[in-house]
Amino acid sequence: MKITAIHVYQVDLPLLEGRYTWSDGRYVDVFDSTVVEIETDTELRGYGEVCPLGPFYLPAFGAGARAGIGELAPHLLGLDPTALGPLNNVMDTALLGHPYVKSAIDMACWDLLGKSCGRSVCDLLGGRHGQSIELYRAISQRPAAEMADNVAGYRDQGYRKFQLKVGGDPAEDIARIRAAAGVLQSGETLIADANTGWRVDDAARVVKAVQDIDVYIEQPCMSYEHCVSIRRRTALPFILDENIDGIDALLRACNDKAMDAINLKISKVGGISKARLIRDVCVSQNIPMTIEDSWGGDIITAAIAHLAHSTPERCRFSATDFNSYVTVRNASGAPVREAGAMLAGASPGLGIEPDFDNLGKSVATYS
Ligand code: MG
Repeated sequence: MKITAIHVYQVDLPLLEGRYTWSDGRYVDVFDSTVVEIETDTELRGYGEVCPLGPFYLPAFGAGARAGIGELAPHLLGLDPTALGPLNNVMDTALLGHPYVKSAIDMACWDLLGKSCGRSVCDLLGGRHGQSIELYRAISQRPAAEMADNVAGYRDQGYRKFQLKVGGDPAEDIARIRAAAGVLQSGETLIADANTGWRVDDAARVVKAVQDIDVYIEQPCMSYEHCVSIRRRTALPFILDENIDGIDALLRACNDKAMDAINLKISKVGGISKARLIRDVCVSQNIPMTIEDSWGGDIITAAIAHLAHSTPERCRFSATDFNSYVTVRNASGAPVREAGAMLAGASPGLGIEPDFDNLGKSVATYS
């Protein structure tokens, strides 16, 4: 099989809640998502998606994804999309860094590999563990009482893990964590995710003030060193996210015992192939993972489900059903949340069919 053309689509994904707000007052109302269609010399086509969380969460942005795909496309035409190792080598040689640009292409090639052999991506990533994948719900940053109300509201939708968006004023964040912990029920899990937003002294104040609460602390500060400093000062379970941007960062953090769990985002590390390597190292080290992406629609939700469902349950902390956060469908066949859980489809590849009514005309074609 050979790649004969790459088509790029841009689709806006408005947030169902209206606005998603996290640390430092950053927010997004409409997510700028990019869908890649890889055409081959067979009847098969593969699909992938990349959707940064605005231009100021990770070093990634929508127009950057599309420009980067244009940079890579001439190097990929004529390659076998099912030979994922050589394909990723070509991408890494042609364009240094920019992992998020490569993510949608790698994802589309996994879709093609599955379709070419009649197996789901979940099967190809090692096979299905357990019946379904437990999801968490991100609780957008609001006043403390409102966030506690939203925890209760999302519990009614079946979620049992709640990730509070903190990383703002430390006194308000302490109130947010206490208010949410106050409405928590038996068997539920609370995570306070600062998304790099706390200064190290503020983070120290927060973890000390909530030390009596059963809460995970996620990525308190921007720098790895400051995160490790906070980690050494608290007995609370500790998650690293933004700092774990590749296998080197993971190995360093494992060596430093810098975290109890990680957040693995597919596009942050460069696609399913590189996420699988990190996933497998975490499994070997018994490190639990939240498996997700920076954001996305149906195609990314399907990719998350395949990676998460092929991960042993003991190392699966949670995952995200981004397609339930937004109002626009970019594909059919993606997982649909039921009772706070989802599962990977059994159809070949990612198991999705793109919705061209919502994708519209391609914004670029390389052939
Ligand atoms: Mg996080």
